[in-house]
Amino acid sequence: MSKDKLLGQLYEKLDKVKGYAYATSIMHWDSATGAPKSGGLKRADSIGILSEDIYKNIVSDEVIEIVKKLKEMESELTTVEKILVEDVQKNIDSYIKIPMEEYVKYSSLVAKATLVWEDAKEKNDFESYAPYLEEIIGYIRKFADYRGYTDHPYNVYLDDYEPGMTVEKLDEFFAELKEGIVPLVKKIADKNMDFNKDFISVPFAIEDQKALSEELVQYIGFDLSRGFLKESVHPFTMGLCKDDVRLTTHYHLSNPMSSYFSTAHEGGHAIYEQNFDDSISGAYLVDAASMGIHESQSRMYENYICRNYNYWKNNYNKLQDRFPDQLGKVDLDTFYKAINEAKCTLIRTESDELTYSLHIMIRYELEIELLNGTLEVKDLPKAWNQKMQSYLGIVPPNDSLGVLQDTHWSNGLFGYFPSYALGNAYAAQLYKQMDKDMDIEKVIEKDELPKIKEWLTDNVHKYGKLMKPEELIVKATGEKLNPKYYIEYLNDKYSKIYDL
Ligand code: ZN
Repeated sequence: MSKDKLLGQLYEKLDKVKGYAYATSIMHWDSATGAPKSGGLKRADSIGILSEDIYKNIVSDEVIEIVKKLKEMESELTTVEKILVEDVQKNIDSYIKIPMEEYVKYSSLVAKATLVWEDAKEKNDFESYAPYLEEIIGYIRKFADYRGYTDHPYNVYLDDYEPGMTVEKLDEFFAELKEGIVPLVKKIADKNMDFNKDFISVPFAIEDQKALSEELVQYIGFDLSRGFLKESVHPFTMGLCKDDVRLTTHYHLSNPMSSYFSTAHEGGHAIYEQNFDDSISGAYLVDAASMGIHESQSRMYENYICRNYNYWKNNYNKLQDRFPDQLGKVDLDTFYKAINEAKCTLIRTESDELTYSLHIMIRYELEIELLNGTLEVKDLPKAWNQKMQSYLGIVPPNDSLGVLQDTHWSNGLFGYFPSYALGNAYAAQLYKQMDKDMDIEKVIEKDELPKIKEWLTDNVHKYGKLMKPEELIVKATGEKLNPKYYIEYLNDKYSKIYDL
C-alpha cells in the first residue's frame, strides 16, 4: 500500500479521536464555566463512555498495523510525517498495555473524584476525598507498571508532560533552584518590609474588571475574534483548534490584580494555542511542545512582561484612569511594589514569583513519595504541613488552604506540577535571549508588545509539537535548559525591590 494511502487511513482514525476528544473537552469546558453541578455525575459517565471510544480508536489493530507499515517506509516520509508517526506510536504505547476496562473505570473515577474534591475543599473534609485519591494513586502506580519504566515510575508521567524529562534531571534542577531561591527568600523575610497593598484590597467593580480583562488579552496579542474569555473558579485555557481558543479568568471584588494576572497568564497560554503554524495543523501536531513550554508562555506574559516596571510605565496611568477613586493618588513605585511583594503564603496560585517554585517543590517531593509508597494518603495532610513549614515557614490552618487546594491529583495529574517550575525557568531563558535579540526592556518600555509575540511565534509557537522541549530551547537560545537564568532574574529583580 502506498504511503499516501496509509497516511489517509491514519488521518481518518485520528479525525475520529479528535472528534471524541473535542466532545469531552466541551464537556469539561461546560462543567467549569457554569453547567449545573447537579448534572456532574451524568457528565462524568458520558466522559467515561467517550473515553472508551478514544481508547478503541487509538489502540486498534488497524492503527497499530498502519503505524507499523509507515515505520517500515520511514525513508519515504517527510520530517513532519515521521514526527507524526512517532507521536501516534507514543500514544499507542501509553494506552496499549493498560486493559481497556481499567482505563475506562479510571477515566470515570477521576471525573467523579474531581467532584468529590470540590466538595471536600469547600467543607475542609480531607477524609471524604482520601479514598478516591488512594484509588487514583493505585491506578497511577499500576499503569506505570503496565507501561514500563526505567529507574522510577514517575518517569512515565514526566515524559507524558515533559518529553525527555526524568526524576534524575529534575532532582538536579530543583536542587539548583533550592540553592538559589531559599537564601533570597530568607534575606527578604529578614528585612521584614511590608509594602502598602491596601489600595488594591478595596472594591473594584466586577464589570470594570471584566472590561479590563477583555482589553488586556487583546493588548498582549490574543485575537478575540478566534476565541473568547469567560469566567471560572480556576482559570484555564482550552485550545480546541487554533481558531477556537478559549480562556477563563476569575474576578474577586477586592482583589482586582488577581484577575489581571490570571488573565495575562491564561492569555500567554492562549496566544501560544492561536499561533501554531498552518503547515502543521493538517499533520495533527497542533499541540504544545510540552506542558513546561506551555507554562513558559503564560509566565512570560504574567510575570516577565506584565509585572515588569517598564510595562507599568505605559500602563499604570491607563489603570488609574479606569479606577480613579482607588488608584488616583497612588504613585507608580508604590503600585509596582504592591504587585511584586514577595511573601511566604499558603496558596500556590496566588503566590508571588519568588516563592512560587517552592510550592512546586513541595508537591513534587510528595508525589514521588506517594508513588514510591513511602507516604500513605492518610498521612498526606501532615506531610504537606511539615513541608510548608520547612520551605515557607508557615503552616496552613486547615486542609482547604493546604493539601486540598489544587485540583490536579483528583484529575490523576501526577507528574504535572513540575511543568510550572520548568515553565518559570524556560521563560527566564527565553526572555534573556529576547533581550539579546531586541533589547526587550526597551521594547516593553516603548509599548511594542507585538514584537514580543512575533519573536515567540517564530521561536516557540509556530513549531507546535514538531520539536521536543530540549530541541526547542536549544534552537531558540543556543543551550539546554539552564535554571541559572531564572535564579539570576529573581535575584536581580528582588534585590532592587527590596534594596538588598
Ligand atoms: Zn498555566
